[in-house]
Amino acid sequence: MKNVPLYIAGEFVQSQTDKWIDVTNPATNEVIAKVPCATDDEMQRAIANASETFKSWKETPVSERARVMMRYQALLKEHHDEIAEILAQETGKTFEDAKGDVWRGIEVVEHAANIPSLMMGETVENVAREIDTYSYTQPLGVCAGITPFNFPAMIPLWMFPVAIACGNTFILKPSEQDPLTPTRLVELFEQAGAPKGVLQVVHGAKDQVDTLLTDPAIKAVSFVGSVPVGRYIYETGTKNMKRVQSFAGAKNHMVVMPDADKQQVINALVGASVGAAGQRCMAISVAVFVGAAQEWIPEVKDALAKVRPGGWNDKEAAYGPLISPQAKDRVESLIATGEGQGAKLLLDGRGCTVDGLPDGNWVGPTLFAGVTPEMDVYKEEIFGPVLCCMEVDSLGEAIELINNSPYGNGTSIFTNCGGSARRYQHEIEVGQVGINIPVPVPLPFFSFTGWKGSFYGDQHAYGKQAVRFYTETKTITSRWFHSEMEVDANFSINLR
Ligand code: NAD
Repeated sequence: MKNVPLYIAGEFVQSQTDKWIDVTNPATNEVIAKVPCATDDEMQRAIANASETFKSWKETPVSERARVMMRYQALLKEHHDEIAEILAQETGKTFEDAKGDVWRGIEVVEHAANIPSLMMGETVENVAREIDTYSYTQPLGVCAGITPFNFPAMIPLWMFPVAIACGNTFILKPSEQDPLTPTRLVELFEQAGAPKGVLQVVHGAKDQVDTLLTDPAIKAVSFVGSVPVGRYIYETGTKNMKRVQSFAGAKNHMVVMPDADKQQVINALVGASVGAAGQRCMAISVAVFVGAAQEWIPEVKDALAKVRPGGWNDKEAAYGPLISPQAKDRVESLIATGEGQGAKLLLDGRGCTVDGLPDGNWVGPTLFAGVTPEMDVYKEEIFGPVLCCMEVDSLGEAIELINNSPYGNGTSIFTNCGGSARRYQHEIEVGQVGINIPVPVPLPFFSFTGWKGSFYGDQHAYGKQAVRFYTETKTITSRWFHSEMEVDANFSINLR
């Protein structure tokens, strides 16, 4: 049994709190660690030290900051499988999927190593006679990140490497459900030569988050998690005059056109709907079959019926357990509601068991057809291995349905028609679109651009937008006098 430490002022320390939360292995529900709810004093020490460290870190040359990221990238790669194993045990993800979680985070660190070019400002000479204007990007100060359970490597790595490379200091509050992976990430960050105090880690839940949202020393907050909490974070953070980027829940649709390749569609739907037990913000949870494509639903059912969940190191398992018994109960109760509200339950994953792991939070692949927009299985983010099929007559109808959804994280269309694909990418009101790609998560040189109820804020994660989020722009207009220059008094605001 491990008590997860806090990381304050460059030291791993045991919390003095009397409030601890169990961390469990979701495949067995055994308690594998305990995570503290940091005390007020510990929160204040982390914030004070991050503020103090900012004074020296922001003066550290940008190339030195970049080199920390280069060493960090190398260390993460060296320890890739070991981190993935920790991750798989505390999330239940299969080993392959856990490796993907780590790898997508490493790619962000690679991107952060390019910080000198990413922070470059703009210049124009002679904006007026002998006057030049140029801009710099400067760090904000102490930034904070609050992360969800479902990507305990990738999502912390969306945040602190970019913020810190920009010259900020950072306080991370990882999910209390799987804090062991972020702890390992932080140990390696220290090993990469990050100065003490540049990164702090506090643990806990709402009380600790509230401190980060209200303390005036925190200048910017990055959040990823569920819709109600995401709204709360955005409203509270901005009310306290902070910059906030808040990534929230989703309901992602895949449109299946009758001219698509049937086998590609089936493969894509199976992986994108039940992969990671459907616990991905970019999971495909709704398939919209257009016209004759509806005839393929029985084959989707056959394909889904062949996959099964299992332990993280079971090579035959397609996915793992849900994160907690509560998450499993919620998904099972939504399945019951879907059936009660008249959706056709073609495949029922309730009551799923896995040999040798009788106590895990298992839900088998589940398929509904005949789903309509009023049903709860459509309106709610189920966050389980459940695929809802909807049937429409035309692409226009599919677009209208999806544009009426309050969410806008990701979507995809499967088609062999360029005209349909072009129309879809243009008209759809969703921030990340895949064309014959089921889960279109952009690589870090772009940004992760959810829309509508899936994102509150304006600058998104990683890419150029993250650098803008974590910096201020300073614009300098300068004139140097010399002997041949004539300058009169100027009573207007024009630069002459
Ligand atoms: P969650 O909202 O329950 O928790 C996220 C974080 O917020 C955790 O660190 C938690 O401790 C904290 N938190 C929880 N309740 C809080 C409260 N009342 N006040 C303040 N802080 C609180 O989310 P989760 O269950 O860990 O993650 C799953 C959700 O995250 C899903 O909805 C998923 O779609 C979403 N998600 C979104 C994206 C995206 O990019 N849009 C990516 C991954 C996950």
